[in-house]
Amino acid sequence: MSNSENKLPSIISHCKEYGFIFQSSEIYDGLSAVYDYGQWGVELKKNIKDAWWRSMVYMHENIVGIDSAIFMHPTIWKASGHVDNFSDPMIDNKDSKKRYRVDHLIEQFAEQLSITNPDEANAMLSLMENLLSKDDFTGLKNLIEKYKITCNISNTCNWTDVRQFNLMFETKLGSLAEESDTIYLRPETAQGIFVNFLNVQKTGRMKIPFGIAQIGKAFRNEIVARGFIFRMREFEQMEMQFFVRPGTQKEWYEYWKNARIKWHYELGIPPAQYRFHDHQKLAHYADAACDIEYNFPMGFKEVEGIHSRTNFDLTQHQTFSKKKQFYFDNDIDPATNKPYGNYIPYVIETSIGLDRAILMTLSEAYTEEDLSTPEKQDSRAVLKFPAKIAPIKLAILPLMKKDGLAELAKELMNDCKPHFLCYYEEKDSIGKRYRRMDALGTPFCVTIDHQTKEDNTVTIRYRDSMEQERIPMSEVKEKVLNALN
Ligand code: ATP
Repeated sequence: MSNSENKLPSIISHCKEYGFIFQSSEIYDGLSAVYDYGQWGVELKKNIKDAWWRSMVYMHENIVGIDSAIFMHPTIWKASGHVDNFSDPMIDNKDSKKRYRVDHLIEQFAEQLSITNPDEANAMLSLMENLLSKDDFTGLKNLIEKYKITCNISNTCNWTDVRQFNLMFETKLGSLAEESDTIYLRPETAQGIFVNFLNVQKTGRMKIPFGIAQIGKAFRNEIVARGFIFRMREFEQMEMQFFVRPGTQKEWYEYWKNARIKWHYELGIPPAQYRFHDHQKLAHYADAACDIEYNFPMGFKEVEGIHSRTNFDLTQHQTFSKKKQFYFDNDIDPATNKPYGNYIPYVIETSIGLDRAILMTLSEAYTEEDLSTPEKQDSRAVLKFPAKIAPIKLAILPLMKKDGLAELAKELMNDCKPHFLCYYEEKDSIGKRYRRMDALGTPFCVTIDHQTKEDNTVTIRYRDSMEQERIPMSEVKEKVLNALN
């Protein structure tokens, strides 16, 4: 099956059927845009996290990790600009009560219009950009009314005024419901890194350039949440802030663009499945920014952002906290022959959504194969994960329980399980067990049969080629370990 739109429903049902991802609160009819990871999904997630952590923290001597709290002082979100700016203009249809993001509504209409009148559609889009940049909500509503854009449920043009909706979830600290106790569920992990910049720099004796990495939950009250785990209200981010000397940010931005796209290729995903999207309109704090886009079943979409954030965040935190965020650089500046001295570092950020990375690896791995012969119709669904991210690495399958085969299988299991996740299964025919392991993405299956008792050899079966070979049982562990490295 190609990477087309109709692959997504198959992936969603496969994830449910095989214990990867479930709708949250399913027995209560679900909670929209919130998902739970099942027994194999959690392993896949952990393996992707490990691959990221290893490449960022273990492979860079100048990057360390932290785990900051989800709750933070509310002033942090004033300083970062999230209280004032982290919002989308929305409009409600009064008849259907359905809420739309204004830009999505207009863009959808312009897409239709462009079929018959591309010039007018373009003019409409540039007018929308202009109105959005000026926060001209009356102008946006007039634009919607002028073109008689309708709600696709009620088919009416009966709209409320355009309003800003902040995407942050609020909650209360302590028992008093006073306004001053309002705190937020963090909408990104980055600010937890910024406010710990000096703690880590001083206690870790870090010298610029250096980075701080973090993996953790983030929360956004996305109004239009769709695309399975592509856009969720509770999700996980893997972010790294790299602190550099002012003036060197361009070269580090290029370094991180390269390093990050290489990480994606190392997941075994071909380069043609990616593209960079450079931001033309930069956020007020950025001097360069791009997205790494992956060719999801619904088209090329952002999976990771790389942003050159200048010294905006640290400067804001210095202003709001009244605590100096200086770094003293005692390297000699060749221009003056004196130390560079005190400055607020510039920052390059790499930020990837863990759940989007999971959807990416699932989209890449999910394959339906027709195995029919003239005699028999047959097919299989297989997840062709690279061994390092596959949830189960090795399935150990005794042909039958009796005759001491189960004991031999348990012996192999005990030898391998300290090193990687193994799965033991003695029920069903071997053919059925293989298919189940294909559906879970297990790269190796080993069958223990009567011959094993005689010569200590086993049949190893490879997921992608479905080829089988006879090898000594003593070589199984090494073979799997080699594939993992
Ligand atoms: P989008 O434009 O898709 O809303 P964004 O530009 O707001 O994303 P960032 O704020 O740059 O995203 O967040 C960094 C990364 O976090 C994104 O590249 C994406 O992988 C992930 N991410 C952001 N919002 C969500 C979400 N609602 N659900 C899942 N992942 C998300």
